[in-house]
Amino acid sequence: MKILFLDIDGVLNSQNWYKSEVYEEARSKFKKREPADGSERTAFELHTCHIDPDALCLLKNCIRDLGLSLVLSSTWRTLPTALDALEQAGLSFIGMTPEMPEISSARGREIQAWLDKNSIVGDFAILDDNDDLEDLRPHLIQTYFCTGFTAREARELRERFDGSIQSGA
Ligand SMILES: [Mg+2]
Repeated sequence: MKILFLDIDGVLNSQNWYKSEVYEEARSKFKKREPADGSERTAFELHTCHIDPDALCLLKNCIRDLGLSLVLSSTWRTLPTALDALEQAGLSFIGMTPEMPEISSARGREIQAWLDKNSIVGDFAILDDNDDLEDLRPHLIQTYFCTGFTAREARELRERFDGSIQSGA
């Protein structure tokens, strides 16, 4: 089994995305409604705006080609409307890391806790824009908040799991 621990902010969105016209357009329809009505529908749509379709498409191609199983490690896992938005985006998860907000370097500890509980056979990687992973750092494929998930990280992901670089990454 090939597992990918997935962060969302700084991976499927980025500074570049938030500066784009496409985002501005998607976001503008909410500006008309503000102050936000607080409904679940609005929260869901807002979360959907926070997913860059280009980064999503690139990642979904990697997931499909490499046969990756996803575990959600992002704080998005704590928000039902965010989970709905991820599902709507076509991402499905075999699990979520536990929440351990009381400890420092929580992300790495949470991932380790999931690994300890779920004995997996195979390899895993962590896609995240932060590197607070302690011993798990060698498994990190790091994105950057300014750019998010790009062809560069897609290539890294492919090299890590099957050692080959395919066109159209
Ligand atoms: Mg992040």
